Amino acid sequence: MESIEHNIPNAQNKSKVHISVTLAVAISLVLIMAGIWNAYKTGLIAEENIKASLQLQRLSDSIRFHQESMSGAIEFALTTGESHWHTSYETNLLNLQDVMHATDMTLSNSIVNKIQLEQGKVIELEREIFSLVTEKKQDEAFSLFASDAYQEIKIEQEQNALTLRATLDREAKDIIGTLKSRLDRTTIALAIQIVFIIAIWLYIINIVRRWQAHQSKHSNELTRLAHYDALTGIGNRTLFHLRLETAFRQSRRDGKAVALVLMDIDHFKDINDSLGHDTGDKLLIKVAEELQKTCRETDTVVRLGGDEFAIIATNIDKKRDSVILGNKILSIFEHPLSIQSNEIKTGTSIGLAFYPDDGDSAEELLRKADMALYEAKRHGRANFKFFDTAIEVAARNKVKMQADLQIALETGQFKLHYQPIIDLGGNLVIGVESLIRWEHPEKGSIPPIEFIPIAEESRFIVQIGEWVLRTACQQQVDWERKGLASINMAVNLSAVQFNERNILAQVEGIMQETGIREDQLTVEITESTLMETEGDVIAKLHALKSLGLKLAIDDFGTGYSSLAYLKRFPIHHLKIDREFVKDLPENTQDIAIARSIITMAHELKIDVVAEGIEDQSQLRFLKEASCNYGQGFHLGKPMPAAQFEEWLLHYNEQNHSNVRSVG
Ligand code: C2E
Ligand code: MG
Ligand code: MG
Repeated sequence: MESIEHNIPNAQNKSKVHISVTLAVAISLVLIMAGIWNAYKTGLIAEENIKASLQLQRLSDSIRFHQESMSGAIEFALTTGESHWHTSYETNLLNLQDVMHATDMTLSNSIVNKIQLEQGKVIELEREIFSLVTEKKQDEAFSLFASDAYQEIKIEQEQNALTLRATLDREAKDIIGTLKSRLDRTTIALAIQIVFIIAIWLYIINIVRRWQAHQSKHSNELTRLAHYDALTGIGNRTLFHLRLETAFRQSRRDGKAVALVLMDIDHFKDINDSLGHDTGDKLLIKVAEELQKTCRETDTVVRLGGDEFAIIATNIDKKRDSVILGNKILSIFEHPLSIQSNEIKTGTSIGLAFYPDDGDSAEELLRKADMALYEAKRHGRANFKFFDTAIEVAARNKVKMQADLQIALETGQFKLHYQPIIDLGGNLVIGVESLIRWEHPEKGSIPPIEFIPIAEESRFIVQIGEWVLRTACQQQVDWERKGLASINMAVNLSAVQFNERNILAQVEGIMQETGIREDQLTVEITESTLMETEGDVIAKLHALKSLGLKLAIDDFGTGYSSLAYLKRFPIHHLKIDREFVKDLPENTQDIAIARSIITMAHELKIDVVAEGIEDQSQLRFLKEASCNYGQGFHLGKPMPAAQFEEWLLHYNEQNHSNVRSVG
C-alpha cells in the first residue's frame, strides 16, 4: 500500500511540473526576445555600417574622379589651348571641395585638412595656368605646369589624396570587418540561444514524459486496485463482470459456450474462527494460487468476496471440459493444504452454469450458478453440480415456500404431533417429543425435513420455533391439568434458534407464560448444532440448564463431536441417531457403535434414548444393551394430542403400568 501511495502523483508533484513548464516557457521567451532584439540591432548596425562604408567608398571615388577630372581639364586646356576647360575644372573643384567637406565631417581626418591646405596653393597655380591659356600664352602656361614648384606640390597633393583614399578604403574595410565580427557574434549568440531553448524544451519534454509515465502508472495502479482483489491479487467482482461480458461477445462470435464456475470453501468460517483470520487469509491466498494454476491462461479466476471464488472458462465444450475443470478444482482440496504450520483439510462445493444455454446475462448466469452451488452443498458438499431446470424449480419452490411459511404460521396450518418416549426398563411412557407438522391446504402434509431447512435459511424458524415451544409447553400443562401423569415434553431447538441472542429470555418467558414445570421440559439440540455454534456453547448450555429444564443431544453420532466435548456438555440425555439403530441387531458395526455410545454415556452419567426403533429385535437389543429409553414407530408413532391421549390410555392398560417422570 505504501508503494502505491508513493507512486500516486500528488498536488506537489503537479505544481512542480507546472512551475518547471512555466519557467521554461518564460526563459525561452526571454531568449527568443533577446535573439530577436540582437538580430534587429545587428540589422540596424549592419545597415548603418554598410551605409558608412559605401559613403566612404563613394567619397574616395569622388575625390579620385574630381581630381582626375581637374588634372584632365588642365591637360586638355594645355594641349588644345582651349580655355573653356577652365569651367569644367572649376565645377570639379567645387564638387571636390564639397566631397572634401563631407569627408572632413565623416573622418575629421588631418589628411583632409592637409589636402585642403595644400589645395589652396595648387588651385592658385592651376588658375594661373588657365588664365595663361585664356591669354593664349600657351608656352608660359606649359612652363608653369612643368615647373618643379607645381609638379612637386601636385605630386604631394596626389600622394595626400592617395593616402586619404587609402584611409577611406581602409575605414570602409574596417567597418565591414567590424560588421562581420558583429554578425559572427550575433550568429553565435543566436546559436547558443537556440541550443539553450532546445535544451530547455528537451528538459521539459523529459519532465512531461516522466509526469505522463507517472500518471499512466498511477492510473494503471488505480485500474489494478479497481479490478483486482487486494488480498489474493486475483480479479475481483468488477473484473469478473468485465471479463464475463467479453466472454459473452467471444461466444457469440465463435459459437462456443462459456462456463461460469462458482465455488466456496467448505466451513471457511470455522477455519477463520478456530485458526484465526491470518490463517484464513493465507488459505484464501493459497486457494487463489491453486485455482490459477489449475485453470487455463484464458480462464479468468476471481474472488467475488469472502470465500467465494468464480472462474470464467471460455471456449468450452460444455460437458467434457467442465467435468474436467470441476474435478481439477475438487482435486485441489483432496489433500490437506499447508498454511503456515497448519495442515488444513477442507473442501469445496462447486456450481456451474453455461452461457448461452442457462442464461444470457451476467446476473442470470450468476444466479443459476449460485443455485447449482447451493444444490452441490445440499448434496453433501465436496462435489459439483450443473445448473438444470429442476434446480431452478426447486429454488422457485423454496422462495414460494418461504412466503407460504408465513401464511402457515398466521393461519394455523402448523400442528404438533407427539411421539412417545418409553422407559425401556419398565415400559413406561416417560415423555413425548413434539414434532411439527405442516398441514398445507393444497399440498397436504409437508414433512419437517422439507420446510425446516428453508425456514432456517430465512430465519423464520425463530418465529415457528417460538410457536412450537409455546404450543408444546401449553400442551404439557393441559395434560397435567387433565390429570395425565407427568409427561415430559421434548422440544426440538433449531441451530438458528440456539444462536439467537435472546434465546434464553425467550425460553424462560414461554415457561413462565405457560406455567410448565421446569423439569417437565426437555430441549433437544442436535449434535451438529452444538458443533457449528459460534462462541461459548458450553456457557450457553449451562444458561439454558439453569432454567431448570433438561437438555438432550439429538441425532447423536452424526455430528462428529469429540468425547472431550461430551464430557463438558451439561446434558441429561443423548439420543442415538436412527442411522445407528435401523440395522440393529444385524450390523456388527452399528452394534459396536450403539454399545459404545451407551457405555460411554453411562460412564458420563448421561441417559441414552434410542431413536427410530421400528421392530421388536431392535427393541430387544437395545434393552439388553441397557439403553435407558426408546422412541420409534414400533413403540408409538408421532400423533396429534387427542390421539396421543387415547393411545396413552390404551398403552397403559396394555402394560398395566403407571406413567412416571424421567426425573
Ligand atoms: P428428530 O428430532 O430426530 O425427530 C425424530 C424424527 O424421527 C421424526 O421425524 C420422527 O417422525 C422420526 N421417527 C420417529 N420414530 C421413527 C421410526 O421408527 N422410523 C423412522 N423412519 N422415523 C422415525 P419428523 O417428524 O419427520 O422430524 C424430522 C426432523 O425434523 C426432526 O428430527 C427434527 O430434527 C426436525 N423437527 C421436527 N419438528 C421440529 C420442530 O418443532 N422444531 C425443529 N426445530 N425441528 C423439528
Ligand atoms: Mg428431536
Ligand atoms: Mg433425532
